[in-house]
Amino acid sequence: MTKKRWGEGVYNLISWFDIGKVAKATVMVVGAGALGNEVLKNLALLGVGNIIIVDFDRIEYSNLTRSVLFRTTDAEKQAYKSEIAAERIKEINPEINVIWLNGDIEKEVGLGYFRASNVIIGCLDSILARYVVNNYAFRLNKPWIDGGIRNLDGHASVYDKGKACYACSLADESKQNMAIREGCADVFQESLSFGRVATTPISASIIGAVQVQEALKIIHGYKDGDRFENFQVCRSLNSKSFYYEGMNMDAYSIISPNYFDNCPHHDSWENIIEDINITTKTTIQDLFVYFEKRYGDNIEKIYLRNPFITHILIRPEERKYEAMIPDSKVQEFILKNDIKIGLEETAYKLPSPEGGYYFIDESFKWKNLTLEQVGVPDFDILHIETKSKDYYIELTSESF
Ligand SMILES: [Zn+2]
Repeated sequence: MTKKRWGEGVYNLISWFDIGKVAKATVMVVGAGALGNEVLKNLALLGVGNIIIVDFDRIEYSNLTRSVLFRTTDAEKQAYKSEIAAERIKEINPEINVIWLNGDIEKEVGLGYFRASNVIIGCLDSILARYVVNNYAFRLNKPWIDGGIRNLDGHASVYDKGKACYACSLADESKQNMAIREGCADVFQESLSFGRVATTPISASIIGAVQVQEALKIIHGYKDGDRFENFQVCRSLNSKSFYYEGMNMDAYSIISPNYFDNCPHHDSWENIIEDINITTKTTIQDLFVYFEKRYGDNIEKIYLRNPFITHILIRPEERKYEAMIPDSKVQEFILKNDIKIGLEETAYKLPSPEGGYYFIDESFKWKNLTLEQVGVPDFDILHIETKSKDYYIELTSESF
């Protein structure tokens, strides 16, 4: 018996379903908790060919009540959510390619993964994490689907270029300011760790299913008003939010708030260059030399999403610890070196803060460090400024 392609004899009986298109699609799922589990299960069952899973957490016992992909043994081992989710969806559908990334979406995930995706699905539980995904998705012109659950309720929304984005929808301007201002990274981490709300597997199944249903429309390129042979009309959630309330059995969708003209998230990066000669193993010095030779221009500034920390200052005693690590490694560093500090007492000394960003120039003392060592993740897109223009250079990926 010849082996059939995934979905053959099933999905090809559905008039609008294109097995080939779905198999070629790439979907990134940010967050592998209750909602992420449901989304990933559906993507695997539908035969979505390429799936990128991002999460920075480990599996705990409390996750088992609503995570279809996790087992008791995973919680015992405190295994990474992203890794186990990847393993389990491969068991469901061995034909799919899965990449799992254990890291913080704000700083440790290369923007190349966003660029390589057809659609990004957010399964997050904090405003700031959503804000970050929204920022990167719009920067790279990718639609993204937000989902959220609480108890028996949930919501899903689709955001795409030209329409109101998630940041536009934050009616409360103070929330926007909170996220925009420098230092939001710590707030973001904290809210992810402590801001959890009780959810049920029921709302996760419903909202996760709606998110994947909308992802399928995006993958197929279906727009509002498209008609199918049984005279069904496509209505998407583009610039709308769907709400589900389990206890009083209500479901409705409402149009997203107005487009916010001054929204900081609407600028996208154009003319991204894929440069096979730059990887995270390239040193800062080599990058300067190569860039000048290849592009005939001189680097003024490299924007780092993951600020490079030279020292950690402990205020009461004014003690200084030499760190030389990217911001995302600070917590690990503090634990490893048994540095006793409270949050109030911490201060970071940065090389050259300028408008919330940090720049490396030729006088950078640590120019023999590689991009990886200063905090640039694999498959990232470097934002380089020269006197005349901005360059966006995608680094070669080791895994993609
Ligand atoms: Zn916006």
